[in-house]
Amino acid sequence: MSDDCIFCSIVAGEIPSRTVYEDDDVLAFLDANPLAPGHTLVIPKDHHEHVQDMPNDLAGDVFAVMHRLVEPIESAVDADGSTVAFNNGEVAGQEVPHTHGHVVPRFDDDGGRPIHSIFGSGPDLDDDELDDIAASIADDAED
Ligand code: 5GP
Ligand code: ZN
Repeated sequence: MSDDCIFCSIVAGEIPSRTVYEDDDVLAFLDANPLAPGHTLVIPKDHHEHVQDMPNDLAGDVFAVMHRLVEPIESAVDADGSTVAFNNGEVAGQEVPHTHGHVVPRFDDDGGRPIHSIFGSGPDLDDDELDDIAASIADDAED
């Protein structure tokens, strides 16, 4: 548990939440300021700031709970789909520094946009740059 972390306080029961799923390692609860009805947050109970800070097993557990909840969440609010996403790091809009996955129900007429709309036009990368980036990621991913 991290001092001054609002999600650690929710895990500890010091701040109330509308819990929708809980096991030994993962907690899911309704977002207090929902972007849509049913907007749910899924968190590891242990404090980790970023997605990549979680041990592999825990990351798998968190995703498994998101996977498990998508259908019940969509059903609960009669959604047509959902946006499933992490804001990973302050620069990406992460406001609570305890990693959390968002499941935001989507509706045909909600006026929302896809994740791609976060960005304007993408960078202009040539083939060599793309090859270098791909090779670097592949090398690191092997470790
Ligand atoms: P972020 O921008 O960090 O990805 O998202 C943080 C989310 O946490 C926001 O959608 C916000 O509404 C939600 N949130 C912040 N404080 C609380 C809280 O005390 N309880 C609940 N249930 N959600 C919270
Ligand atoms: Zn925390």
